[in-house]
Amino acid sequence: MEDRYKLIAAALGEERVKYDERLIHHTYTKLKSRAEIFYIATTLKELIAVLDLAYELKIPYLVLGAGTKYLTKRADIKGLVIKNRTTQIKIGAIKGKVSTSGLGIEEAQIEVDSGVSINKLNDFLYESGLENLRGISSSLSTVGGAIFLDSVLQAQASMIKVWDKGDIENVDILSLDKNKHVVLSVVFGVKARI
Ligand SMILES: Cc1cc2nc3c(=O)[nH]c(=O)nc-3n(C[C@H](O)[C@H](O)[C@H](O)COP(=O)(O)OP(=O)(O)OC[C@H]3O[C@@H](n4cnc5c(N)ncnc54)[C@H](O)[C@@H]3O)c2cc1C
Repeated sequence: MEDRYKLIAAALGEERVKYDERLIHHTYTKLKSRAEIFYIATTLKELIAVLDLAYELKIPYLVLGAGTKYLTKRADIKGLVIKNRTTQIKIGAIKGKVSTSGLGIEEAQIEVDSGVSINKLNDFLYESGLENLRGISSSLSTVGGAIFLDSVLQAQASMIKVWDKGDIENVDILSLDKNKHVVLSVVFGVKARI
């Protein structure tokens, strides 16, 4: 095994890093390939740490969301596959009117980790009295996978936090670049449900 892979395991935890991992259980499309080295990031901190390590050690990496886009057959994947299972959803700025019956929310900014599925985000929006995001992607796909393709999500994204070769930046949708950015989180502007 490559020494660089041993360094990854030493830094992230031997029990968290898998070798020659079958991706069939980590992809919606049941991809039959294997990853040389595999890690599941459950928080943004973990996602950033593993990306930084891969970058420093010059290990090729692939970020996997829900895996709804991969074909079932593909060559085994050289380097590191990072499964993005980040889960946080936070309500940020709120626009509304104060009346005698309290604060009526008209619109809210929702910051969503890139590993959250569209389904889970919509459950949260529903429970918060906000409109669903009716995108064109599979509802199983993650925000981080869908934002590159889904024009409906793109139209509601007011800010995107990305990792770019060790730097963390906020970009708008026009500056988002599939060839260099890993999406960490997205802020959506969402209206109240009528
Ligand atoms: C039933 C069904 C219907 C679909 N309909 C449509 C449709 O109408 N239009 C459409 O465009 N697609 C559609 N798709 C394809 C798929 O849902 C979308 O492309 C989706 O956005 C992929 O999200 P994912 O989380 O599954 O990404 P994955 O399949 O895991 O990854 C897709 C790509 O995004 C990259 N990626 C994933 N997460 C990140 C991240 N955080 N940062 C940077 N890159 C990342 C991956 O490396 C990969 O290149 C459909 C799929 C299904 C199963």
